[in-house]
Amino acid sequence: MAAIVSETYARLIDKYDCDVVMYTAYPHHSHWSKEFGDKEFRTALKNLFSCDKSSPLMLYLHIPHCEELCWFCTCHMTVTHSYEKVKKYLSVLHREVELFRDFLDQHSLTPNFQEVHFGGGSPTYICEDEFEQLMERVRTIVDIDRLSEFSIEIDPRRVDKERLKFYHEKGVNRISLGVQDFDLDVQKAINRVQPPELIENLLAPEIKKCFVNGINFDIICGLPRQTPTSIRETINKVVDMSPDRICLNYLHLSKFAKHQKLMNRSELPSMHEKKMLFYEALDVLERSGYVRIGYDHFAKPTDAVAKALVEQKMHWNALGYTSGKYASVIGLGISSYSTVGENYYFQNCFDEPDYEKAITKGHFPIYRGYKLDQDDIMRRDIITRLRSYFYLDCRSIEEQYGINFEKYFGEEKTILCDFAQENIIELSNTTIVITESGKQFANLVCETFDRFVPRYKHLRSMA
Ligand code: SF4
Repeated sequence: MAAIVSETYARLIDKYDCDVVMYTAYPHHSHWSKEFGDKEFRTALKNLFSCDKSSPLMLYLHIPHCEELCWFCTCHMTVTHSYEKVKKYLSVLHREVELFRDFLDQHSLTPNFQEVHFGGGSPTYICEDEFEQLMERVRTIVDIDRLSEFSIEIDPRRVDKERLKFYHEKGVNRISLGVQDFDLDVQKAINRVQPPELIENLLAPEIKKCFVNGINFDIICGLPRQTPTSIRETINKVVDMSPDRICLNYLHLSKFAKHQKLMNRSELPSMHEKKMLFYEALDVLERSGYVRIGYDHFAKPTDAVAKALVEQKMHWNALGYTSGKYASVIGLGISSYSTVGENYYFQNCFDEPDYEKAITKGHFPIYRGYKLDQDDIMRRDIITRLRSYFYLDCRSIEEQYGINFEKYFGEEKTILCDFAQENIIELSNTTIVITESGKQFANLVCETFDRFVPRYKHLRSMA
């Protein structure tokens, strides 16, 4: 890595040393309201289908159970050793799928699901019989043979090759392996020991054949005991194993994940160190030929998302980057997010008793939601374009939303000028281009357009 780049980068990290919102949706779910429930969800679905009966959809199913606690985890999960508990949850999830199917039947609708994703928690906790039973329900709303993508998150410690072949037989064509880090010391510090050989063995040629172009790795930057050298070694091993896509997450410290205190705080990298670790990982991946997809994803140049990026056809939603345009994601299972059409977000309840109670009453178990107005939709579009393409054509925003960009975003301009002075962006009257060295600060540029972020936060950074 060139020392000069590193020096500039380090100075900018210090200047903008503030936590940055990692967008999974705009506006962030902390701004959603509990006024939204079953009635609003049904109305939003009806509106969606009345506009376009064949609107392409994604289905997400959440399995919250895990056998062991990883100390860094921020997922909505429950650690349990009782498989009976898991089965009980699954029986309620079956009823939620049926509730959705009943809604479709009532309105004579055939949904056009094009992707299905199983996440968690650990979907791999479910045994084959229960997975098959759940799939029986899913097949009542999804034509599995027509899916362009069917993925499942994999805890490598809980599967063998036979299980992966089983998923393949059921139609799964993408597996997403939670790797996190290959360094044994780091693994011990996060209570997740899984030697690299375990993953190497799983990805035998016969398995790679089952999931051609369909192997993802998740890696985390900012874990305790990670060093620039250790993360480079981890990423070198990742490159040797040749996954098709890599998601490079930052460790997010959440006040809701109390178990994160089990990690030794003194071993955690500072914000500055965390960003330097990200930079090290990024450097190895790009030198190894991976294409950077938006802020934190990487893919082989032959991957569908990498190709969609080149063709400017790539899209982003709560589940990540995709080569297809899906305005809507239907989330089933506790804590799942749904995006319904252009205007609505919803999230299911977090507690199993509340979840079950709602479904027993025949209600969709909505905990909170949000209705986007035109300003929200425009800002989401700007943020999505910037974080996906590092580029914004201000004129096309003006045309699409009928505004004068300069006037509408006068306040944001002051902050953008500061970014331009630091060579994070190139600013003209018609475009915003995030520079190569500025890409690490892309989220900060996106945040400038977030009307919920107090402007003083950026202005303080500029002082
Ligand atoms: S990281 Fe994955 S396996 Fe570990 S506790 Fe969280 S959801 Fe479960």
